Amino acid sequence: MSLLEIKDLSAYYITHVFGVKRDVKAVDNLTFSVEENEILGLAGESGCGKSTLLKVLLSMVKPPLKVLKGEVNYSYDSKNFNLLTLDENRLRKVRWEDISYIPQGSMSTFNPVRKIRKTFEDVIKTHKKNADKEVYEKLMEEHLKYLGLPLEVLDSYPHQLSGGMRQRTTIALATILEPKVIFADEPTTALDVVVQRGVIQMLKQLHREHRNTMVMVTHDMAVHANVVDRVAVMYAGKIVEISKKEKLFTNPSHPYSNFLINSLPKIGDRRQRASAPGNPPSLANPPEGCRFHPRCPYAKDICKKHIPKLIEAEKGHYVACFLFSDEVEEGENVVQQTT
Ligand code: SF4
Ligand code: MG
Repeated sequence: MSLLEIKDLSAYYITHVFGVKRDVKAVDNLTFSVEENEILGLAGESGCGKSTLLKVLLSMVKPPLKVLKGEVNYSYDSKNFNLLTLDENRLRKVRWEDISYIPQGSMSTFNPVRKIRKTFEDVIKTHKKNADKEVYEKLMEEHLKYLGLPLEVLDSYPHQLSGGMRQRTTIALATILEPKVIFADEPTTALDVVVQRGVIQMLKQLHREHRNTMVMVTHDMAVHANVVDRVAVMYAGKIVEISKKEKLFTNPSHPYSNFLINSLPKIGDRRQRASAPGNPPSLANPPEGCRFHPRCPYAKDICKKHIPKLIEAEKGHYVACFLFSDEVEEGENVVQQTT
């Protein structure tokens, strides 16, 4: 059994524009799993549903986002639960301690008018109710030292830290209770290259030494190449390919993955790289059938009418494309009529 099994998951932003209902299909009928100790990267252009998927996997779902169907099953250390069915009390316990989150933009993690120490204390106190001050002081200091952060950050306000230092402090906070699974949303975006390297080293160190599982969202393929074990490629609310990193970068299967990889600049090659023609579709009104078909050079009739199923083309390698299988997604279009 995998550590995390996602089954038939759909989550839409349900809004009304001038009285007309408008569903933004950000996560649409996804089934895939995450294995223990791996780093799974979620790749794809901005607006393809990556961050929304992460929110659902953490059960951080607030209107207008709504989960329409599906399961998010965690299974580890003799615990088995569907995260989407837990009540607030159980969720609070599971968050930070078992599953933790590094958000996009570290500014939102800390309260601007409170010293960093206070936020750390709040998190530790909530989960280690019987610990006395000495115990959690020691825990904070040891964890910061372990991650190479100066202890002065604890007595700083968030705005007093540089962007890189704040991001590393956010990672320290997210990992202080040694969670089993860490979700990171664009952890290096908005940082300059040198600072990015420090953040990536920190994530790799944590993964190597704590043996936790990570799910990392980034649109930056260089970060995927550097950090992750497997990559799930998202396009317009669907996962179109899941592959070991090495295979994806050398021999991508899905036509969209192909464009994603081939548009990367290559050292010593000054040729203009080919990117996919056209633009990604609106998730409020995605094309029928394969959502990539208006941009796909291989599109055939079936692609315009049916949604290809994500199938295991080779062991551990999944692809959703009619070039590989004629299988149609089960229950396609069943969630189109929402109220
Ligand atoms: Fe292209 Fe058809 Fe494959 Fe979609 S299913 S990626 S349109 S070949
Ligand atoms: Mg995002």
